[in-house]
Amino acid sequence: MVDVLIIGSGPAGLSAAIYAKRANLSVKVLEKFYMGFGQITESSKVDNYLGMPGINGFDLGETFYQHAESFGVEFLEGEAVKIQTKEEHFSVSLASGKELEAKTIIYAAGAMHRHLGVPGEDTFSGRGVSYCAVCDGAFYRDKVVAVAGGGNTALDDALYLSELCSKVYLIHRRSEFRGAGATLSRLREKENVEILAPSVISAILGEGKVSELAFSDGRKISCQGLFIAVGMKPQTEVLNGLISLDETGYVVAEETGKTSVPGFFVAGDVRKKALRQVITAAADGANAAVSAAEYLREK
Ligand code: NAP
Repeated sequence: MVDVLIIGSGPAGLSAAIYAKRANLSVKVLEKFYMGFGQITESSKVDNYLGMPGINGFDLGETFYQHAESFGVEFLEGEAVKIQTKEEHFSVSLASGKELEAKTIIYAAGAMHRHLGVPGEDTFSGRGVSYCAVCDGAFYRDKVVAVAGGGNTALDDALYLSELCSKVYLIHRRSEFRGAGATLSRLREKENVEILAPSVISAILGEGKVSELAFSDGRKISCQGLFIAVGMKPQTEVLNGLISLDETGYVVAEETGKTSVPGFFVAGDVRKKALRQVITAAADGANAAVSAAEYLREK
């Protein structure tokens, strides 16, 4: 039985793996897909991870992976479909029918950006379509961009981009916004922000990169970037009934990663927190591994 089973091979899981290995624990990382580095692969360029300016998202993920491998971390491919607490350990059932046993679990399966689901979205992902204004906004300095969504993320993104870009369209499918009225008022006062609501994007167009958005009523606008902020979905379905989740499905846990179940820790984007970035995920992984090591030592 392994000391620590880490579920997820993004920055949180791999950082946890390195810290756990350095604490002399036996570690396995369960990854859903072979060398699946998580959301980071959606960023064509990462400019805000300390010490690696301008690195491609895939390359950053691969670097993390190789770092963990160099410490002897063992990787397994598979999807966890059931997690059960046994007397002194955990049992994890995989979709393949295989069972894994572990003394502790660090759950770092991440969250997915919800997609608009329109033609052009996948084609132009990383070539004009982005899901993270804080990560990619600087690449659109003095350009015309659009933000899709009506929640706080979309409003905050539009405000952030209005300081960098020559023009920002805020596009929402309804006329009422979910996001804070105060932020909306600030956006309405900005000369370089135009709010298009209700407006439904029907396609993202361009030659090799984004140049236009088409709407369901036949209108089109020109822009060089589209920031999609229509919500996130934490990958926590498998935790239902095991630990307490908040109303949106995130795990409520402090920085230590400790959850309502002793020996079960969380790290990264599955945790309820204010800033979801590579650097905060890596920090979470370190904290969760230290908590797991402490737990095993005390036992
Ligand atoms: P959200 O509040 O769930 O908003 C998602 C938005 O995307 C909604 O306006 C929704 O439209 C729209 N949407 C969903 N699917 C769509 C589709 N297929 N096509 C077009 N539009 C679509 O998500 P969020 O903005 O990421 O925020 C998540 C949580 O974090 C919220 O509780 C939010 O308050 C919080 N948050 C807070 C702050 C802050 O306090 N500064 C900042 C960021 C996030 P409808 O409205 O029509 O459903």
